Amino acid sequence: EPKNHRRDRIEKLVADAVENNGFEMYYQPIFSIEKGTFHSAEALIRMRSTSELGYISPEEFIPIAEEKGMIFDIGDAVVEQVAEFAKRSEVVSQKLDFIEVNLSGLQAASPDLDKRLEQILRKYGISPSFINLEITETAVIGSEDVFSKNISSLRRIGFSFSMDDFGTGYASLSYLSRLPIDLVKIDKSFVDQLETADSRGDFVKAIISIGHMFRCKVIAEGVELDSQLSTLRELSCDYIQGYIWGKPAPIEENAIQSKV
Ligand code: C2E
Ligand code: CA
Ligand code: CA
Repeated sequence: EPKNHRRDRIEKLVADAVENNGFEMYYQPIFSIEKGTFHSAEALIRMRSTSELGYISPEEFIPIAEEKGMIFDIGDAVVEQVAEFAKRSEVVSQKLDFIEVNLSGLQAASPDLDKRLEQILRKYGISPSFINLEITETAVIGSEDVFSKNISSLRRIGFSFSMDDFGTGYASLSYLSRLPIDLVKIDKSFVDQLETADSRGDFVKAIISIGHMFRCKVIAEGVELDSQLSTLRELSCDYIQGYIWGKPAPIEENAIQSKV
């Protein structure tokens, strides 16, 4: 199938989903080593109808949505669904410190981000402290001014922030020193390296030290193996996210339910 054809079809599906409430949120539990239980979860978007194309990853459709200007409506829908979940499933949400929500670079650079987010949460009576916004280094590049303003004003209201995919870009360290970040997420590619004999987890160890140096908590992403878990524990990593504790799933059939 020609590539452009697939792209056009995904674009139509996304446009359709924006119009017809065609997205749903999955949640992946995040385990706190200190507490010995889940303390938060990451919200991950899924497209309900994918027609004959089969499963389409957000990694494929989010960039198309960004290019076509649909990401703002999608971003609103994501926060709206998280807020709606927090209100509807109070028993579950009250056990969690916060939900992590991914922010696209375009959202992060949009001057009305704070108003939009605040307005949605107010509608459901959910406190901004229940939302942790995940940003990536690429989200910051080229828009650091607007972005810094957004962060300050959102922090004032109560939102917290994570630096996602830490270490994969060139400037993670410089952003960490300049921006008020609460959490650092170690990318799966580094967690995978814990397995190779020659790395002995040196890189992961370095990221954890850097994160703690900046008074951040550190989350390791994509943890699948017991051996990785025990190494991360030894290295004083704070939180663990990965298939080892549960795949992303709708809240009703989520590993988090085991906590309630
Ligand atoms: P991300 O933010 O880095 O999300 C983590 C991805 O790693 C998720 O893929 C998750 O399912 C996957 N993952 C978690 N643990 C494991 C593991 O142990 N093994 C393996 N193999 N994978 C694991 P997912 O849900 O397909 O999301 C892909 C990307 O799409 C996300 O990467 C994020 O960049 C983007 N995305 C997802 N939801 C949203 C959203 O609501 N808004 C925006 N702007 N982007 C989103
Ligand atoms: Ca993320
Ligand atoms: Ca990530």
